[in-house]
Amino acid sequence: MLRQAGLRAARRPDDPEWEPRLYWTSARLDGPQNNDGMETKRPTVPAAEEILGGYFTALDHGFVSLVDYMGSDEDVERAARVSYGYGTRKVSATRGLVRYLRRHRHTTPSEMVEFKFHCAMPMFVARQWIRHRTASVNEYSGRYSLMPLLFYMPEREHFALQSTSNNQGRDAAASDEVYREAVQRWERLRADASDGYTWMVGEDVAREVARIDLPLSTYTQWYWKIDLHNLLHFLSLRADPHAQWEIQVFAEIIAGMVKRVAPLSYEAWIDYDLVGQPMSRGELAALSQLVEPSEDGIAARSGAGLNADQLKEAGLSGREVQELLAKLQLPPRPDFDLDLSKMRDAEEIARAMNEAVPSTSE
Ligand SMILES: Cc1cc2nc3c(=O)[nH]c(=O)nc-3n(C[C@H](O)[C@H](O)[C@H](O)COP(=O)(O)OP(=O)(O)OC[C@H]3O[C@@H](n4cnc5c(N)ncnc54)[C@H](O)[C@@H]3O)c2cc1C
Repeated sequence: MLRQAGLRAARRPDDPEWEPRLYWTSARLDGPQNNDGMETKRPTVPAAEEILGGYFTALDHGFVSLVDYMGSDEDVERAARVSYGYGTRKVSATRGLVRYLRRHRHTTPSEMVEFKFHCAMPMFVARQWIRHRTASVNEYSGRYSLMPLLFYMPEREHFALQSTSNNQGRDAAASDEVYREAVQRWERLRADASDGYTWMVGEDVAREVARIDLPLSTYTQWYWKIDLHNLLHFLSLRADPHAQWEIQVFAEIIAGMVKRVAPLSYEAWIDYDLVGQPMSRGELAALSQLVEPSEDGIAARSGAGLNADQLKEAGLSGREVQELLAKLQLPPRPDFDLDLSKMRDAEEIARAMNEAVPSTSE
């Protein structure tokens, strides 16, 4: 439970009145960061405090928890201005600056905001995730601890055939028959792998050796700390529809957490990075044949149009033409609100993990 000692009531970021200002709240009274109710001088954000330490379930056995955070949009502004203390600037001014910085890739101020997560994910997801080198990671040790025998089982709707257009993706749904057979095969393989692991551990074989044939569907977990700038880069790549669906699930939860910690940076990221797209010289050359900028605004050039051949003449390859057409079909603006019904407490999650660890007492 949080004791609100703040100057204003906690409000959600979707509340139009909500302002990500400095809140003088008391520290958590019942959690691991209990500090005897001392007031903190640190800036805290009510919407983030509401979910701090809660565990959001992902896939069948995974989770993401925001363990801690440092700073918010105001800290981006303070760093950019190298200013003294927290002022009383209006949110609209902070918003304008945060958006300007993001538009112009002035990124170091957003490195001043930090996030620490506790996450559990299948090993094949962890393998993609760990490619993001600008985070600090500490992973659960399968050498030291017993592995929970939890395996990811794709649900029917996510079991699809290989895409014919994208070598790295899935496409049409597979038949029920193929899904049923795949589930049976996965279950057999996992029962075998679990049996081998449990037997070796029972024979006191070193855990670092006993684990070597656990499949990539096995869940691992880690603490992951990253700054806002690098986190948004991660989210641009992993909340994107081109990323594997399973890692998107985690990215979307994390995006929902960013929205609570630093809502103005989150909004700017959606507008300029996730939905916004850079334009190449060739694309700008093509568009400038269609519209004319002036002091009054932008006007369509009369009778202007470009067919596929003319687009190629503007210097665009066939693939670039396809990509330009896709860019111009303005994608919907996603919203990564957290589903609070998926928030669990740490004890419940720890219990599920402990129950999945093989017993060595028999
Ligand atoms: C859809 C998709 C498909 C992919 N397919 C494959 C694949 O088939 N095979 C494969 O191996 N990987 C693949 N990847 C991984 C991808 O190539 C990147 O390794 C991964 O996304 C991490 O990106 P990053 O290096 O920008 O991120 P980070 O490691 O988080 O780095 C952030 C930024 O820091 C800078 N940086 C960090 N380290 C260095 C460095 N050592 N030198 C210079 N600059 C640095 C770069 O500017 C970088 O963009 C795929 C990724 C995606 C999203």
